[in-house]
Amino acid sequence: MQIGIVGLGLIGASLAGDWRSLGHEIVGVSRQQSTCNIAIERGLADRSSTDMAILAGVDTIVICTPIDKILPTIEQLLPYISAHTVVTDAGSVKAAIVADATKICPNFVGGHPMAGTAQSGIEAAERGMFANKPYILTPIAATNPQAIESVAELVRSLDCQLYYATPSQHDLAVAWISHLPVMVSASLIAACMGEVDPEVLKLAQNLASSGFKDTSRVGGGNPELGTMMARYNRDALLKSLVGYRDRLDGIIDAIESHHWEEISTTLSQNQIDRSEFL
Ligand code: NAP
Repeated sequence: MQIGIVGLGLIGASLAGDWRSLGHEIVGVSRQQSTCNIAIERGLADRSSTDMAILAGVDTIVICTPIDKILPTIEQLLPYISAHTVVTDAGSVKAAIVADATKICPNFVGGHPMAGTAQSGIEAAERGMFANKPYILTPIAATNPQAIESVAELVRSLDCQLYYATPSQHDLAVAWISHLPVMVSASLIAACMGEVDPEVLKLAQNLASSGFKDTSRVGGGNPELGTMMARYNRDALLKSLVGYRDRLDGIIDAIESHHWEEISTTLSQNQIDRSEFL
């Protein structure tokens, strides 16, 4: 199959490398010519250009640009796609994209590979990054069933765990387990930096180890991506943040009131519940 990838960054270049290894012909489009050149040099694409016209005739196009460029990219693609071209995206939010994208492009299927690192750009691309990770498709009533199956087949070929959800279910679920953790983790780093005694701050920085590494990882990632999540998944993220703030207030109240039994009960329940997520 000929697969077009638009946006050869962490996600786009990683998908390109995996699908090319499986024998597909990869046609890459990115914003910068230097990125297109790297894609060819590293064997991530067979052909690559900054010009969308290179995508004319490909079977499937996967849009892996930043979230705010996904709908404009579909508009730009229209002169080069046929009635049979399947178009999907990798955006981390879905409600802000899927209905509008489907109106513009009848064979659009919303998608979200749930894998990544704190890095960005083509240099961060990794082989096998999606294996054994969830990959969600978010079809709506107007989505062409053949297009869904075509994207699902490509996703299965990466050994991903395939899930389906509506765009709004997807956005609320990822707010809880992805977008809320980014904001919580970012707030953790900022709160630590608020330590007013420079000696204590330096000591804390020297002592930081695996616990801080785990809890600060997502808050110290790609700022552009975090901002896009907040902007384009605003309602779901606000709902999850308010829920989180309520829990934090409960913990503050319990500690202020010396309610150690309550703290112990909460932490014991969390120990059990965590395994339901991981
Ligand atoms: P990224 O590493 O910053 O890559 C995006 C690439 O898109 C950039 O490297 C840039 O390439 C290119 N680009 C930017 N504007 C473009 C345009 N108008 N036309 C063509 N190419 C353009 O970002 P990413 O982490 O791969 O994220 C890409 C998408 O995947 C986003 O929608 C994000 O929500 C989603 N996603 C991210 C993750 C994650 O953990 N990072 C996980 C799942 C899904 P140049 O080098 O050419 O400038």
